[in-house]
Amino acid sequence: MCLQCLWDSYRTVSIAEIERQPDDQVGRYGIVLDAGSSRTTVYVYQWPAEKENNTGVVNQTYRCSVKGSGISSYGNNPQAVPKTFEDCMQRVKEKIPADLHKSTLAHLGATAGMRLLRLQNESAAREVLASIQTYFESQPFDFRGAEIISGQEEGVYGWITANYLMGNFLEKNVWNTRSPPHGGETTGALDLGGASAQISFVPEEEAGHSANSTVQVSLYGYTYTLYTHSFQCYGRDEAEKRFLARLFQVNTAVLVNPCYPRDYVTTLTMEHIFGSLCTEELRPASYDPGYKIALEGTGDPTLCREKVYSLFDFQVCHDREDCSFDGVYQPKVKGTFVAFSGFYYTANALNLTGSSPLDAFNSSTWDFCLQSWSQLRLVPKFDEVYARSYCFSAHYIYHLLINGYKFTRQTWPNIHFKKEVENSSIAWSLGYMLNLTNMIPAESPLTQLPMKP
Ligand code: AMP
Repeated sequence: MCLQCLWDSYRTVSIAEIERQPDDQVGRYGIVLDAGSSRTTVYVYQWPAEKENNTGVVNQTYRCSVKGSGISSYGNNPQAVPKTFEDCMQRVKEKIPADLHKSTLAHLGATAGMRLLRLQNESAAREVLASIQTYFESQPFDFRGAEIISGQEEGVYGWITANYLMGNFLEKNVWNTRSPPHGGETTGALDLGGASAQISFVPEEEAGHSANSTVQVSLYGYTYTLYTHSFQCYGRDEAEKRFLARLFQVNTAVLVNPCYPRDYVTTLTMEHIFGSLCTEELRPASYDPGYKIALEGTGDPTLCREKVYSLFDFQVCHDREDCSFDGVYQPKVKGTFVAFSGFYYTANALNLTGSSPLDAFNSSTWDFCLQSWSQLRLVPKFDEVYARSYCFSAHYIYHLLINGYKFTRQTWPNIHFKKEVENSSIAWSLGYMLNLTNMIPAESPLTQLPMKP
């Protein structure tokens, strides 16, 4: 499958339309709203207009987290979404010179939270997007649409962002040499969102192909054959809901959670755990959305690791080397990887950013999980909702990377837990914008490009 074909089937605005704009009308700023399942993040990018077809010239100049939850939680109240954007959009207006507002392209891409809402309630998903479209019509920017992107696009754009920021793509030079930098070496991308997880990398050439997980990406005169897969319901938040839903099946009075810190007690509504499509099949007959379930942590890392394992179906792969979990084809991982978003937040909580040996990851996980809530709550940088779940997240990441994607003790240090490169976030949003604005031409910008139909 080619990136262009993928793109053609999902976009709302044609690339041809963008290309038809005279160069001087394309602003030097771009805005992307990454509407994730847990929150929306607004990114502002900037680049010198005369160099826009060069690689590595786009910088992220501003980032703003929209207050509150992700847009998919507004299925019952779509009209309320625009109000949540206002604070961030006001700041964005201040960051971009007023005379460039009109020529600044803005896009909103929604990911797995909205993919799930669309499956659950298609008209609610449509209304949320329509409400956003209406809001942006009153804004000064050149808004090009709100759309739900596919998991595969999310994976590919994350990979493009990581490699673009790391300088792994080089345009064909004046001598017309075709070889990309570092002998074509690229870094793989591991993204852990709230509702889905993506893996994307260039496998060994002789690796088997699977039509629905192989994407040809042509950038600056070089074609990369990329393996990419997106696992719906395997994002951090949805995985934890599935975990709690399973605990609920065996213990209905107080849920004893070995992954929550010792001494931690809380209540969660049934809706929080069972309201999602990812836990629908585990929903009890007595389901009452407002019913409060009591939970208590025991901070038991050994039991937590054992129980988190059951969130994956490893058996169906029958020890096949080219299978990750749930029967999904995956060639052997190759080269270095950057692990961002939810991977990074958890590694950061364990004080393990960058790369480190697997043993260090495990010993930090154990140390973290053995801290009681009375100790953890004193750490100023921790927010309660994230802090109570880092132990779960660390074990989840272990199983996903080791038993799922099949990293080994030897290849684990090839994973770099990282959130940004020179102040630009590693997230699918930059790759998305580069593609939308055709700033990463398939051919070198030095060659004349035929106009696309
Ligand atoms: P995002 O990068 O916003 O798509 O978030 C990806 C995942 O990371 C979601 O599961 C979030 O709940 C989680 N997350 C976001 N920010 C933090 C943080 N500061 N600490 C821990 N987890 C986080």
